[in-house]
Amino acid sequence: MLHSFPLCAPLYRPAFLRLAALVWLACACSHALADERRVLVLYSLGADSSSAWQRLVHKGLYQELERSNQGGTPAIFEERFDANRVGEDKSQEGMAPYLATKYADVKFDAIVTENFVAARFLASHPELFAGVPRHYVNHGRERWQPRDGLAYEVTSDFERAIGVIPLVAPEVRHIAIVGDKTARCRLWLDRIRSITPRFPRIRFEIWDDGDVNELRLRAARLDRSSAIFMLAALRGEGSARIQPRELALQISAASKAPLFTHSESLVMPGVVGGYVVSGEAVGRMMARLLLGQPAMTSQVEGYYFDYPTARRAGLRNIPPEAVILNRPHNVWELYRWQILTAGALIVLQGMLITALVLSLRSRRRAMSELACERSSLEDRILQRTLELLQANRKLEALATTDPLTGIANRRKMTEQIAQELERARRFHHPLALLMVDIDHFKRINDSYGHEVGDQAIIQTATLLTASLRAVDMVARFGGEEFVLLMPETHIAVATHAAERLREQAAGLRLCTESGVEVQLTISIGVAAADPHGAPDTPSSLLVRSDKALYRAKKEGRNRVVQF
Ligand code: GH3
Ligand code: MG
Ligand code: MG
Repeated sequence: MLHSFPLCAPLYRPAFLRLAALVWLACACSHALADERRVLVLYSLGADSSSAWQRLVHKGLYQELERSNQGGTPAIFEERFDANRVGEDKSQEGMAPYLATKYADVKFDAIVTENFVAARFLASHPELFAGVPRHYVNHGRERWQPRDGLAYEVTSDFERAIGVIPLVAPEVRHIAIVGDKTARCRLWLDRIRSITPRFPRIRFEIWDDGDVNELRLRAARLDRSSAIFMLAALRGEGSARIQPRELALQISAASKAPLFTHSESLVMPGVVGGYVVSGEAVGRMMARLLLGQPAMTSQVEGYYFDYPTARRAGLRNIPPEAVILNRPHNVWELYRWQILTAGALIVLQGMLITALVLSLRSRRRAMSELACERSSLEDRILQRTLELLQANRKLEALATTDPLTGIANRRKMTEQIAQELERARRFHHPLALLMVDIDHFKRINDSYGHEVGDQAIIQTATLLTASLRAVDMVARFGGEEFVLLMPETHIAVATHAAERLREQAAGLRLCTESGVEVQLTISIGVAAADPHGAPDTPSSLLVRSDKALYRAKKEGRNRVVQF
């Protein structure tokens, strides 16, 4: 039974022949199809859904045609042999008359076959589309040279396909190669056997017999020191056939050993991959052939890995140029611009916030400096106010104090008399006033000098002050004249007190510089406010006491007279 996969044989056709063929095809196509070229493509492996390989080839072909669409794209007619489902022979039955009938009126400019079934069919029907240039791509035969067209062999480089295993899984010491008994597989196995001596540290084992169950059992016995290399092999199961992908999945499910392969169509979750022939690359190569561009069959291999399976198998040293399939989308790739924009916005916001904080801080600093300034200003104002108050108080004191004696002056006494008169009237209390005058003071001045006179005034003031009660008040009223205000005092008591003062004054002795003792006497006029009579004023009370004093002088001085 035949199966559908790229045939692997070295390309030994001389390069110039290949180049010539390409040029010829290009010329043929462009020449004949100046208006529109028509190309018939014959696939071997049935509908896309039944062959992963076919699907990849088809995808690669159309992607490349679309990519390089320059107006010269040929019209593609496609036909499929269903070899995967019904087998190589059955799939060819009736195809020749079918094609001849279907395309009787179509003049093709080229026929391209992909894979071995279509190649064999076309090579064995020279009468079909006679004279139309034929191109056998991936024909699956080794060193085959068709008589009626050009062959493009697709090869697997097994030395690299096997060699990648110890590279990415250095712990592997044993490789089981899964194949089958088909001619194609035997060809691959022969080639593998020829290169195994290049891996002396690895023991190889070929599994080309046994059914699916047996393969699963064998695979289950392997551990991580082994690897399984899957060729595109088939297995029969009753009348049905198990396709290479299904077989690979069943073996992978049973085994701990990683599965490697040589075909892109087998790289899938469960098979790690390896150095494989790419179906898409074959499709792209076919497209370039149809477009008359250089197409190299040597450029269809590469490293392909299934991301989750390779991770699970713990593979290392995966070549950087490898194509990684089924890689979960990483957030950075998906949302790069959103992330960058968000980052830029965050940075911008951060800058704005920083600027705001800085300006707030400087504002706060300015405010606190201002507050400092203000409080120092307030301090200074307070200081000035206090100084002013003190100055005022000093002025006030100066204005109400007699400078010679330090007791109250006339002004102060006049105010005090007014206040006390008011109080006495309101509470019906008595109030007495004494007017005191030093007798013949002029004489003291004249006899002993002005300074002795001053001393006499001071001593008299001191005497009067010493005799005061707390509520009494004394003031120098002028020259050698004093007034004594006595609240709450009846005139009789005041007169009595005046008498005592007079006596004490007579006892005073002043000493002059020349050592002479000087004596003095005082006269006192006493008056009182009448709580029941007409309201007094300071001057009316003063006038009465002055009158009393006048009488005392008149009556001979050194005496007390009550008004
Ligand atoms: P009298 O018994 O009638 O009161 O006679 P007196 O000499 O005391 O009367 P007078 O009022 O005529 O004299 C007062 C004198 O006091 C006049 C003035 O030169 C003197 N005098 C006034 N003020 C002062 C003063 O501050 N110091 C001194 N040393 N003398 C003063
Ligand atoms: Mg006098
Ligand atoms: Mg006098």
